[in-house]
Amino acid sequence: MLRRVAGEVREINDEIRELCTDMVETMGAAHGVGLAANQIGRALRIITLEMGGEKEKDPLVIINPEIIVVEGEDAGEEGCLSIPGFYEIVKRGKKVVLKGKDVEGKECTVEGNDLLARAMQHEVDHLNGILFIDHLSPIKKQLFKREYGKERK
Ligand code: ZN
Repeated sequence: MLRRVAGEVREINDEIRELCTDMVETMGAAHGVGLAANQIGRALRIITLEMGGEKEKDPLVIINPEIIVVEGEDAGEEGCLSIPGFYEIVKRGKKVVLKGKDVEGKECTVEGNDLLARAMQHEVDHLNGILFIDHLSPIKKQLFKREYGKERK
């Protein structure tokens, strides 16, 4: 599921809104900063983001998100709810602008810096079947395979 490219949401109906609520609850329970629908087994283009209380709508749900601006560069530690216990430094854009739709089907744009920008890129990656470990250097990838493989045995 995590390696599948998630499909576009064609109609924002009650079923989709229910899924969005589920995602927000799952993210909250896991104390995550973001979640993609395919992390809870649904291959649909929906992400939720924890805005750190910055915005009126928090957490934020974005349907069919699309990154339209990436600026600057920022290296920071990253982890993933789907890869518990593994953290590594990943280079990402420092500022990101995302557009998509809210749960009412209204067009929205979200701008984020630093941690929020990182979460946006991480979650949109998920929708494309990409995990943060894919951004690591070959040596770090080896390290991940060794460490994570061991833990799972
Ligand atoms: Zn993740």
